[in-house]
Amino acid sequence: MNDCAIRTRDCPRCPLCQGEGGGLYCRLPDRLFGAPGLWNIRQCANTACGLLWLDPMPLAEDLPFAYQDYFTHKDKPVERTGMIHRLYRLLLAVSGLARQRAELRTLFLRHALPGRLLEVGCGTGERLAEFRSLGWEVEGQEIDPVAVERATARSLCIHLGALPNLSLPENHFDAVVMNHVIEHVQDPLSLLCECRRVLKTGGHLAVVTPNTTSLGHRCYGSCWMALDPPRHLHLFSPKTLQQLACNAGFRDCQAWTTAANAQFVAEGSIAIQRTGHHRFGPSPGLALGLESLLFQLRASATILVRKHSGEECVLTATK
Ligand SMILES: [Zn+2]
Repeated sequence: MNDCAIRTRDCPRCPLCQGEGGGLYCRLPDRLFGAPGLWNIRQCANTACGLLWLDPMPLAEDLPFAYQDYFTHKDKPVERTGMIHRLYRLLLAVSGLARQRAELRTLFLRHALPGRLLEVGCGTGERLAEFRSLGWEVEGQEIDPVAVERATARSLCIHLGALPNLSLPENHFDAVVMNHVIEHVQDPLSLLCECRRVLKTGGHLAVVTPNTTSLGHRCYGSCWMALDPPRHLHLFSPKTLQQLACNAGFRDCQAWTTAANAQFVAEGSIAIQRTGHHRFGPSPGLALGLESLLFQLRASATILVRKHSGEECVLTATK
């Protein structure tokens, strides 16, 4: 029984393989944006699967209550310019992390031949603007009207509404991308099927989502920031993400992980561990900043020997 204002439905079986779900975490509050309720996370006991999901699951019509204080409703913090921040940027450039983060930001399409691109869950349109500057003809989809208003101010073409309700043309896009979106939706399989429908034959899908087999999840456990209840409804590993894409009919499905953003996950997770919550935006302070930077270095080294330890899963597939 969930004592919260967000109504829920029971979801005891794995939404991916229908396997039994064991309780992994119990009664977690929203540590990031203060949505009401206490939330349980199950893990599929089928060792060939291992998906994580919320049980009980918020009802689709009540999901907006989980987003009332979300990122896309706030101004982006101003980039800092002090000596420490200049040194930090130098470290990023020298270590290759700056390049890795740029590749990840554009879902490894930076050097692809540009064509027509759709970003699903484009938020305020920053990534779409970057794709446009790389020569892509871009369109976005977003369900949050506040974010759409901000994206439209960048002269971007944004479709407001859930993807399946938009009736976008079939066989239309050369690439469909989504960054930290698939973990938020009620029916990830239907979403990927719709992505496949709007892609041209031979078109490219790229998806990024948190990785449950990451070093951060292993280290921070229930305080791992990417659990993000009640917004992250399903959480994937490379294996489950690849399986989902295959189930949706894609071919050449490949999933791997990247540690490029481990620092941000560590910063939030350490804050949650110490204070029970984390607020995005303000500078973390020197001690937390250094601690999360050290975690980044450790994560960048770990992934060289444990390839599934990155904080984010990347999926690429072809229609
Ligand atoms: Zn399963």
